[in-house]
Amino acid sequence: MISSIIEFAERWYPDVEVVSRSTEGPIHRYTYKEMGVRARKLASGLSTLGITAGDRVGTLAWNGYRHLELYYGVSGSGAVLHTVNPRLFAEQMAYVINHAGDQVIFTDLTFIPLLEGLKDKLSNIKHFVIMTDREHMPETSLKNVHCYEELLESGTENYQWPEFDENAPSSMCYTSGTTGNPKGVVYSHRSTLIHAMASSVPNGLNIGGLDSILLVVPQFHVNAWGVSYAALMNGCKLVLPGPAMDGKSIHELLDREKCTLSLAVPTIWMMLTGYLRESGKTLPYMKRVVIGGSAVPEAMIRSFEQDYDVKVIHAWGMTETSPLGTLNFLMPHLQELDYEAQMPTKIKQGKAIFGVDIRIVDDENKLLPHDGVAFGKLQARGHWVTSGYHGEESAIDAEGWFDTGDVATIDKDGYMMITDRTKDVIKSGGEWISSIELENVAVGHPSITEAAVIAIAHPKWDERPLLIAVKAGPIEKDELLDYMSKHIAKWQLPNDIMFVEELPHGATGKLNKLKLRDDYSDYKFPDA
Ligand code: AMP
Repeated sequence: MISSIIEFAERWYPDVEVVSRSTEGPIHRYTYKEMGVRARKLASGLSTLGITAGDRVGTLAWNGYRHLELYYGVSGSGAVLHTVNPRLFAEQMAYVINHAGDQVIFTDLTFIPLLEGLKDKLSNIKHFVIMTDREHMPETSLKNVHCYEELLESGTENYQWPEFDENAPSSMCYTSGTTGNPKGVVYSHRSTLIHAMASSVPNGLNIGGLDSILLVVPQFHVNAWGVSYAALMNGCKLVLPGPAMDGKSIHELLDREKCTLSLAVPTIWMMLTGYLRESGKTLPYMKRVVIGGSAVPEAMIRSFEQDYDVKVIHAWGMTETSPLGTLNFLMPHLQELDYEAQMPTKIKQGKAIFGVDIRIVDDENKLLPHDGVAFGKLQARGHWVTSGYHGEESAIDAEGWFDTGDVATIDKDGYMMITDRTKDVIKSGGEWISSIELENVAVGHPSITEAAVIAIAHPKWDERPLLIAVKAGPIEKDELLDYMSKHIAKWQLPNDIMFVEELPHGATGKLNKLKLRDDYSDYKFPDA
């Protein structure tokens, strides 16, 4: 049971702190002991809202202590926590709330205007609970509104966590829906617990009791990579950044709370390293950063490791895999190499962790060799890999393999490297060009902040790459092409480069290539 995690932390690490930047502004701190009491009060208070086992409870919230209490109070009571991504388009948000069948929504103050705009589309919602105290309760046009702190006060700390089937659903999260409607993935108590234990091991996120963790990956996306559970299992101090994700605010918490480990997508780290460069600040306490969600540019690995002495752990996963699938740590024979010789392995997404198996297959589902060259469809199966989407038929084959939609290579040492999404790869005259590889090479140039590569139809080659890039400093097309030609084969070079002010991102911070493909649907190469 997920409740066993909070019981454990409360009993054995009662004085360890949870520190949150609150939506109301000030920094909030309390201990696992206090959190345990509040999670039980919340669980018992849920019954006054008519919530019973199996009912879905939605959240629209930043990373903070109240959201953490919901993780335990809702799932622990037998209800299902549905963390809604507030960055979804309004229509998609209404769709996921209705599709999940949420009955109650807990919301941070930030998202009240958003919900007021959506309320007529949310026919199933019986109550809205505003995650604040009486003093900060706003005026709102929402109906059946409750104050979080008052709901807690109505509950009792003598609540007994119920025991039930470990396969019962505990939480759910929707994919970001880059094509069509988002799809719901449901996690169970069993899958969540095993995933959190596996992610703690040294070859995983290597979480231990000495860590103070700044959890930047959102609690609204894939259970914050399972760290909302793993931190408590290990008695770690947990620091939650609330709505402030800019470099300065993140650095402030890392420094003040002496954080040793932090986890986020590359976009966040780009903002932090930018701030460090400008301000001359350093990261004296940080030992490791876990980076995933999209490929880590080589320049980012170098910056963390060489400029700030912080080890990078590159990780791959997806909503459907809870999310951890592979993590990159170097085996002894690779540790012995010099730094430059290690880099080709460091940029890979890493090796499977125990509990997940991965494989690459061709279009006919034939296994491909682990030679680091052959690339094909990446499939995964394991204890925390989904078997299907909420309300849909099974998404796995007869042997339990789930098709990830990623294209990858696996080398002789077992290091997997994502070369693309199936739908993003550029099919040029029978050869495949990895959009991610071109993007990584482009951002290796100091004058490029971010880059996206999309396929554009070409009369001779079917498709050719177009590079769309954001400049950090002065640079011309020819100079960038010249630079890129030193790192990739000539036939892979983009046929054209467009410089833009910014690139579009989706709800989970990934490049929105669907939008780019739309924006450039009329584009024609100069030579076409
Ligand atoms: P999501 O379900 O929104 O978390 O997205 C999962 C997808 O993000 C994966 O299928 C990959 O395409 C991409 N992804 C996640 N981690 C990485 C990584 N380390 N490198 C490249 N792509 C990644």
